[in-house]
Amino acid sequence: MISSLLSDFRSKKKSAQDITEEHLARIAEKDPEIGAFLYINAENARKKAKERDSSGDFSAPLAGIPMTLKDIIAVEGLQNTAGSKILEGYISPYSSTVWKKLEEAGAILLGKVNTDEFTMGSSCENSAYKITKNPHDFSRVPGGSSGGSAASVASDMGIFSIGSDTGGSIRQPANFCGVVGIKPSYGRVSRSGCISYASSFDTIGPLAKTVEDTAIVLSVIAGHDPLDATTPDIPVPNYAQEISHNIKGKKIGLIKEFLQADGIRPEIKEETLKTAQELEKKGAILQEVSLSLTKYAVSTYYLLVKAEASTNMARYDGIRYGPSVSPKSLHDMYEHNRSLFGDEVKRAIMMGTYTLSAGYYDAYYLKAAKVRTLIKQEYEQIFETVDAIIAPVSPFPPFCIGEKIDDPLAMYLADIFTVPINLAGICGISVPTGFRNGLPTGVQVLGKAFHESQIFSIASVIENL
Ligand code: GLN
Repeated sequence: MISSLLSDFRSKKKSAQDITEEHLARIAEKDPEIGAFLYINAENARKKAKERDSSGDFSAPLAGIPMTLKDIIAVEGLQNTAGSKILEGYISPYSSTVWKKLEEAGAILLGKVNTDEFTMGSSCENSAYKITKNPHDFSRVPGGSSGGSAASVASDMGIFSIGSDTGGSIRQPANFCGVVGIKPSYGRVSRSGCISYASSFDTIGPLAKTVEDTAIVLSVIAGHDPLDATTPDIPVPNYAQEISHNIKGKKIGLIKEFLQADGIRPEIKEETLKTAQELEKKGAILQEVSLSLTKYAVSTYYLLVKAEASTNMARYDGIRYGPSVSPKSLHDMYEHNRSLFGDEVKRAIMMGTYTLSAGYYDAYYLKAAKVRTLIKQEYEQIFETVDAIIAPVSPFPPFCIGEKIDDPLAMYLADIFTVPINLAGICGISVPTGFRNGLPTGVQVLGKAFHESQIFSIASVIENL
């Protein structure tokens, strides 16, 4: 889609203004029902499209391409709420590295889209502003936390979107909305200017309708950034050009513990096995692999992310960011400002503070940190025997709005197939495989850290099955 749009722009068949207007019209028509946008950047988008057309220069990789950003990614002069009341009215004084790169590449920002508060959640129901609906069934969630990103792409209100994935937040909503979403390896994309949830897990990545589009966008946003010390200086390939449709002889693993997990719906398991068999027909070699620590992944993940979140949330004291009040006392000020957080964020602060407290640090935080290392090592060993892994994304199809919101544990368990990938710091791409009972189906392909090209190729074969 991006490449065909660019050739239309270059041959003057279409203008950036036509495409931008088309998208703005669709947002006006569909978004009142879907609720993906927290801010619509209409005037600015029109202005940028006009400037692009009058320059006539469509040489940049995303010149004139309209897109959306999750509302945790800073753009100078625009709101950056993280779906929280504590950042209501906050205007970012600077731009994130990701947005600077996209802007430089010619992308046109249509608006900022919904997220669970501070990206904590799997359904978008934790946003303080609105509940985004799944474009394929308005009674269901779009997934989360990048639900606004996935819904905007699925309903053609943006050619692509940028989301974040700390424990599944790109892959699961992509899966629920029937679009492609890649969680790059930890450190592949700079987080400078992106609001943190759990800093040793957070990754930023694209969602789009096709594997090729996510590859094009990842090449634009990836790379070393002096403003984010976790980004190594590893060259960024032209991912789209490196996509190969030949998977003959590629060894693809199926994780035994994933397919035997409690609570996985039979149709989800079936979809993964069916897709794996199709890959076998194309010449891939399937291999069952065992990741014995899978059963500890969800508890390890939640112990660690909530600990990191509790410290990341400390800066929101209502003095430096967000709405301010005239307090009667220090206590009064804290009580007012910190009560602007929603339930899931409060839960994170309480859980995290508890596990980091002197008496419990060794028993919880430190132990979880050690298990994380073991999980990472298990994945490293597996990738010595296989080139990639194919796995389900969510144990069940998109659930109904309200179905799980009062049961945080059930919501956490929904992340069983996504969080191990963040614990290991490797890459994973969620790719649609079709529809079942009117709802999107899909799988994820996992690869070694910094081997995104490998998973793009396999995902692209899956997309064309
Ligand atoms: N649902 C997971 C959590 O709340 C993942 C969220 C994310 O990836 N940002 O931690």
